[in-house]
Amino acid sequence: MRRYCPKFRVWAYKTHKCPESALVRTDTDFKGIVQRLYDLGIHAKSVTLGVSPLFQRKDGKDKLIIHIDLRAERFVLALGELPSGWAYLWDSKRIIGYTETIPVLKWGAVKEYTTGIIKEFEEFLDTKDATAVKALLLLTSC
Ligand SMILES: [Zn+2]
Repeated sequence: MRRYCPKFRVWAYKTHKCPESALVRTDTDFKGIVQRLYDLGIHAKSVTLGVSPLFQRKDGKDKLIIHIDLRAERFVLALGELPSGWAYLWDSKRIIGYTETIPVLKWGAVKEYTTGIIKEFEEFLDTKDATAVKALLLLTSC
């Protein structure tokens, strides 16, 4: 996992000057989501992909999880209703994610499968009006 700086639209290496709090832990696949969120005024902490075996694979399925950890609850609220498959996860109210039960796939196939889900979420973010979202964030900031 690498650190991405959405402010300067670059991967952050050791010499990068921004504070850790401005960087997002993620990988190349999720750069589009991280950047789109940032352009809406929404700051992510990390965006990750994971697969966990369900029921020790007795049913031959895995659970695919995409995890978007946002830096504050108000960022989650500003997104409003999420596309299908996406939900607000757990009680932290900072985390949204996508989960789906899928057949057991090799990691490469999982990544390929995920590409479509990522694209849909990017399209969802593209429908958001940045001015309206930023205005809403201003109202809810404290
Ligand atoms: Zn930076």
